[in-house]
Amino acid sequence: MRDRPDDRGGAGRPALASAVVSSALALAVTDLRGQVLEANDAFARLLHLRPDQLTGGKVGDLLAAGAGQEDVLDLDRVVEDLLGGTPVVMADLLARRPDGSALRGQALCSLSHDGGTGAGAGPVLLLQVVDSDSTDRRRPGDHDALTRLRSRHAVVADLTARLRERSGLLGVIACDLDRFRVVNESLGHAVGDELLVGVARRLIAGVRGGDVVARLGDDEFVVVLTGLTDVAEAVDVAHRLTRHLGAPFEVDGPQQRREIRCAVSTGLVVVDLDAAGSPCPAAGGGAPPPLDAATLLRDANTALDAAKAAGGGCCRVFTGAMRERAIHRLTVENDLRRALERGELRVHYQPVVDLRDGHRSGFEALVRWAHPQRGLLLPGQFLDVAEECGLLPAVDAVVLEQALDFLARHPDVRVAVNTSARRLDGTFAADLARGLHRRGLPPGRLAVELLETSLASGDPIVERELLDLADLGVAVLLDDFGTGYSALSYLRRLPVTGLKLDGSFVADLPEDDSSDRIAAAVVSLAGSFGLSSICEGVETAAQAEHLAAQGWQSAQGFHFGVPAPEERWFPRPLAPTGGTPRAARVPT
Ligand code: C2E
Ligand code: CA
Ligand code: CA
Repeated sequence: MRDRPDDRGGAGRPALASAVVSSALALAVTDLRGQVLEANDAFARLLHLRPDQLTGGKVGDLLAAGAGQEDVLDLDRVVEDLLGGTPVVMADLLARRPDGSALRGQALCSLSHDGGTGAGAGPVLLLQVVDSDSTDRRRPGDHDALTRLRSRHAVVADLTARLRERSGLLGVIACDLDRFRVVNESLGHAVGDELLVGVARRLIAGVRGGDVVARLGDDEFVVVLTGLTDVAEAVDVAHRLTRHLGAPFEVDGPQQRREIRCAVSTGLVVVDLDAAGSPCPAAGGGAPPPLDAATLLRDANTALDAAKAAGGGCCRVFTGAMRERAIHRLTVENDLRRALERGELRVHYQPVVDLRDGHRSGFEALVRWAHPQRGLLLPGQFLDVAEECGLLPAVDAVVLEQALDFLARHPDVRVAVNTSARRLDGTFAADLARGLHRRGLPPGRLAVELLETSLASGDPIVERELLDLADLGVAVLLDDFGTGYSALSYLRRLPVTGLKLDGSFVADLPEDDSSDRIAAAVVSLAGSFGLSSICEGVETAAQAEHLAAQGWQSAQGFHFGVPAPEERWFPRPLAPTGGTPRAARVPT
């Protein structure tokens, strides 16, 4: 056995050893059986080890087999070739580092006969390892110009290569800044860019050696985790990154340096390549689709969407159930686009009754979807998807058109339509005015129902729309009142004309004391602001009597009538079947 020199650069170090230690290339000198005699820092870094951990190690142990046995360096063969006269042997390398991560690259091997390590006579093996990941990084297009991270195209290639290894756990973390657009719009793109560079730095600092960090575009980043021992390790990394990125960033503002707090959401998917790429934990969800880089990135993004839906600034792990939900959402979205084109949306009308004299004072228009396969769908089965994919304003527009036609057909009727805050985009009041004018309808027969939460944002465009609606003479009702947790100051500023008490406060009346007190407080609030008062979800005569006694003006609910098609309330005269026409049925 040769002794290994223990001075790493001291005086008197033989020439070869000194050259190895000072080189920027990843170099090692071994004996002919692969035992490390000298290795430099670059070599240690490549193996994700500290230099002292290489001492006495064997190259064969340090580089374990990666995908197939044939891809790990066969040192005996190399030495045989070199001793046989081949000056340099170059071998492809697909190996596993001691920490489990994959190392792809080439090994260049040659013999040195100068006994240069001071380890005595006889040839030694000079080994240079080139990491193809780091050389790839130098290819144009493989890195993002702003952050110098791997680009989308490069990370897709990385993932594809990792997937080919077919062994071990592979993790992908998708990260996205929660309010990046706001930073860009309010502080400018230079600050936005600085923030992105800050995020990139924190990602690099937060990952483990061997993990790959990439920027896909805008504020989308991904981290590829290899060499995982279990799913928990990946979850730890994802949580750590989420936490690190959530801390405030210092950036150059337009005038002075400022602190930006920009929460980051992360979505993690981990696949077990030994088990043919099933997601871990495989929480149901049927057979996974064939695994490729695009699928992995999409699954990580689905988990990211779940993190955002949970309020942002957190991490979610992809499950089969999420995939099901994503597929469901996509199906509903496609179907809904088709439904809008083909006119599959219907409007049902629920009567609103005046509690003082019991007469029907109007209707609320409620959307339904006559789905060709699934039958009549309620709003709860599709409006959330419509909202997520930006189709809600289109749905509202269809309902509004149908409701205006309904008003035109029934001269003494009033109708309230539900409108999402998104529809109040600066064009709503004008569109509404045109729709009313085209049909010669007085605006006072129409009411617009808005959620309390849509006013709380203080958005000037929304507020302008409300003032325009008031000028027009259209009533504005605050829907689901009492559930929005918002300050009521807007009641002083904005031309709201009525409050609709949410049905949840009616359900336990008349027995429940706190519901009773809330209902009493809201009706008194409406009275003191001169607003109309409507309660929803009235299901029993006892509730109706109780609310009437409290002073509520009107009510709707199953007690008075369920939402139903127009014909239920205005039956069409039956077509004459020969003799005298039959009388129309009286509405009930
Ligand atoms: P909402 O505006 O609060 O409408 C009242 C909901 O309560 C309706 O549900 C109605 O069927 C239900 N309801 C009426 N009376 C009773 C009752 O006595 N007891 C109980 N338990 N429920 C009662 P629906 O039709 O399923 O609509 C659900 C929600 O979908 C609506 O709640 C509204 O927020 C939304 N929505 C419906 N149509 C539209 C629309 O055209 N546009 C928009 N943006 N949202 C709509
Ligand atoms: Ca409503
Ligand atoms: Ca409501």
